Amino acid sequence: MARKDSILKLHALLVNRRDALRKALAGDLSMLKSLPEQTGGDVVDAALDAAQDEISSKLAEVESRELVQIDNAIERLREGTYGQCDICNGKIPLARLNALPYALTCIDCQRAAESGIGNGAVGGDWGQALADSEVSSEI
Ligand SMILES: [Zn+2]
Repeated sequence: MARKDSILKLHALLVNRRDALRKALAGDLSMLKSLPEQTGGDVVDAALDAAQDEISSKLAEVESRELVQIDNAIERLREGTYGQCDICNGKIPLARLNALPYALTCIDCQRAAESGIGNGAVGGDWGQALADSEVSSEI
């Protein structure tokens, strides 16, 4: 019962986050489209534009990746498989879902996958994505 309530809250959180990401990505795209008109002939300006461009596209890449994971989680909520480990089919602890709402695996399977493959492809890291956003928006 409590688990179900928590999952309903996580569902709302995921939908909000998805909408925010979609808006951010739409904003990034319109920024990129307007760049050629604003670009002056100056070499320094061009270099700054290129750097800005790179930051925008890196940010968009992080946001797109997160958006895919969130869409995936929302899909699983619809199917009723949300909160179930993709690998061992066990229940993912609520503490983990609260920390990482789009986690697809339990911690044990995540660790096993990480030690086997050597990168955190499964689940991703919401905290890191947020940290990246903050750094980029200060520039
Ligand atoms: Zn598992």
